[in-house]
Amino acid sequence: MNEINLFKMIPKVDELLEDELIKSLDGKVPRKTIVDSIRLATENIRAAIKDGKNHDEVRAMLRELGDTIVKMAEKKNSFQLRPVINATGVVIHTNLGRSPVSPEILDHLKEVAKGYSNLEYDLEKGSRGSRYSHLEDVVAEITGAESAMVVNNNAAAVLLVLSTLARGKEVIVSRGELIEIGGAFRVPDVMAQSGARLMEVGTTNKTHKRDYEAAISDETGAIMKVHTSNYRIMGFTSAVEASDLKNVSERNNIPLIEDLGSGVLIDLSKYGITYEPTVMDSLKSGVDVVTFSGDKLLGGPQAGIIVGKKEYIDMMKKNPLTRAFRVDKFTISALEATFRYYLDMDSSVSRIPTLRMLTYPLEVLEEKAQRLMEKLEGEGLLGRVGLTIQDDFSEVGGGSLPMEKLPTKCVVIELEEGSTARFEELLRTNCIPVIARIYKDRVYLDLRTIDDTEMDIVSKAVLRAIDGLGECKK
Ligand SMILES: *Cc1c(COP(=O)(O)O)cnc(C)c1O
Repeated sequence: MNEINLFKMIPKVDELLEDELIKSLDGKVPRKTIVDSIRLATENIRAAIKDGKNHDEVRAMLRELGDTIVKMAEKKNSFQLRPVINATGVVIHTNLGRSPVSPEILDHLKEVAKGYSNLEYDLEKGSRGSRYSHLEDVVAEITGAESAMVVNNNAAAVLLVLSTLARGKEVIVSRGELIEIGGAFRVPDVMAQSGARLMEVGTTNKTHKRDYEAAISDETGAIMKVHTSNYRIMGFTSAVEASDLKNVSERNNIPLIEDLGSGVLIDLSKYGITYEPTVMDSLKSGVDVVTFSGDKLLGGPQAGIIVGKKEYIDMMKKNPLTRAFRVDKFTISALEATFRYYLDMDSSVSRIPTLRMLTYPLEVLEEKAQRLMEKLEGEGLLGRVGLTIQDDFSEVGGGSLPMEKLPTKCVVIELEEGSTARFEELLRTNCIPVIARIYKDRVYLDLRTIDDTEMDIVSKAVLRAIDGLGECKK
């Protein structure tokens, strides 16, 4: 058969639209997507013929054509942003969306978001209200702050604070705290954007109170502390505590501000994790304005929270940047619900997913690992691959508590044959992707970040990957 005849064997678009298999997409996939997939799939066959592929290969492509089109159309029709299973053990995984939101909070969010809400409406007065009012009382009750507001993320919070309090003025920061957070958030750059001028004091490893005092002038707009959340300077070091800076700032009538980063509200040392300064510590030591993230150790939605003196927060609310950084009803609703968990500090740890995962006792992780092992054995994997439970360490992530090693349990899979990298890729490209870690040619599944409701999906994904089935079979 010559090339011309092969071309003739490719069905027309209209014929394919009548194909039973392809018709099964009707009503599920937009017609345009189906037609586009038909065009692309038939175009691929034409290209293969032009490339001189042999007849058998072309015929095979033609036989599979219906299937190919269905898969293409379904893929095009599926969401780009979708859930994945985090088997890395990195709890606040920025690439995987940081803090998960609890099911109860999602229920509440749905109630608020599906219709209208009193987002900016005062129900008692029957007139315009403030979107920040919903958070003020609960944040004040938990942190003791006079006032609070919230913006899109902590980077925006820092920018807003600097722009409001120190635009055109100097901000004194220790050289040991000029951090980069990642994603181009660098203290000196944020400072420049805000219109404030950075006044560096001290050295990388040591800064003294007298360094701050010597830097104060008529030009000073604020003294700023930055929590070095993602690294530690060790050895011959000294930094000045906020409580020591308090009288420097007060004497000179200059606001003292602190970027805390993570925003912990509870004493994590009760759960065997290194003590991380809390928002309350910062306020108690006399800091006037504190900023922190909503989706790091707080365990809520992405947000930047600003707490502190009412006079300063009121100034920020009037800054035009606030309008640009403002959060929507989804964020406010999820954040209010997250804060409400903290009204009962003890139960907050088990009810906020991020905190629950960070504080799992080792026995719980061991028991979870046993359960996953049983499921994998139930899938008939015993004997086909090496399966063991091993001790390992998880990480906090999100640039929080960088030195912390959380003892954990992993299910470790060692292939007898085939490529571990390919195996990991098949897990990652599963219909519900499973993100795992490779170490020394083995795949590690850390139970700390795998939810109980995800065990079946993980074991099925492992089976599918081992069978070499990369395609998604629903
Ligand atoms: C993470 C972090 C930020 C940035 O917060 P986002 O909420 O990610 O914008 C700023 N400062 C510090 C100290 C941080 O740790």
